[in-house]
Amino acid sequence: MSVVAPHQQLSCTFCKKSQYDVKKLIASPDRLNHICNECITQPGKLKFISDRPDRQQTVRATLSVRVSAFLRDLWSSPSGKPFRCSFCQKKRCSVGFYGSSLMDIQAQICGDCLTVCRKILNDEAGEESYASGFDQAWNVVARSRDGQPVSPTLRPLLKAVYVQSLSQPLNPIELQKAIEDLLQFLIGEGRTNANCWAVDLFFANSQGWERDWAEQGLPEDFHDILAMMGEALHDTVQHPEIAKNYGCLPEQLLERVKHFRGNSR
Ligand SMILES: [Zn+2]
Ligand SMILES: [Zn+2]
Repeated sequence: MSVVAPHQQLSCTFCKKSQYDVKKLIASPDRLNHICNECITQPGKLKFISDRPDRQQTVRATLSVRVSAFLRDLWSSPSGKPFRCSFCQKKRCSVGFYGSSLMDIQAQICGDCLTVCRKILNDEAGEESYASGFDQAWNVVARSRDGQPVSPTLRPLLKAVYVQSLSQPLNPIELQKAIEDLLQFLIGEGRTNANCWAVDLFFANSQGWERDWAEQGLPEDFHDILAMMGEALHDTVQHPEIAKNYGCLPEQLLERVKHFRGNSR
């Protein structure tokens, strides 16, 4: 399951709200059905249907569990399609199924899929809260130097390192890649005094960070490289000999990061 990209025009299968009227829409793996954040989180928006609406109660009352399970599998929805979770296609779920409270909508979602959807929403909310920490830190460090502004391209590169270094569980491959991308930029078109200063300050004072990266328990390699970026990277353009002395030129740092490969894993 995945969150729908903003440019697609889609609506929630269960409440029919357009993606523009809800905060998040999650697509089923086959992308034929969608569920919005409201249907996922607001109690009462979906109606609980055990397995077999209408006749379920009488079947349960008169037949053994095994027989009713057998009938449940045979049961088809009025549309003629077998009763399944519209997201994972399971026919049975111990938690039961939920359907739309609107008339004539034949989709249903199982309790397990709802749990996964809630988790997706929570993870996204977590990333958004990192984002506000990043914005604060960025505003502190992204200042012009000698009338030269920080490149707009720097922001997403730095943010990727930030998000990756705080993500739980840590993905070392993604973090390494984010650091490499940032350093590549500083080696090439982004090698300006303003950019090098901004990156240096960002890692030197983690003020405004959601959490201090230094306390993240990052693997030693990563911790060291982020610490080094906050040492003498700011000297790269105006005093390259000093930066070089500390091993802090972007190309020196990149060399180190490339050595992580296969080493810390
Ligand atoms: Zn909905
Ligand atoms: Zn399901």
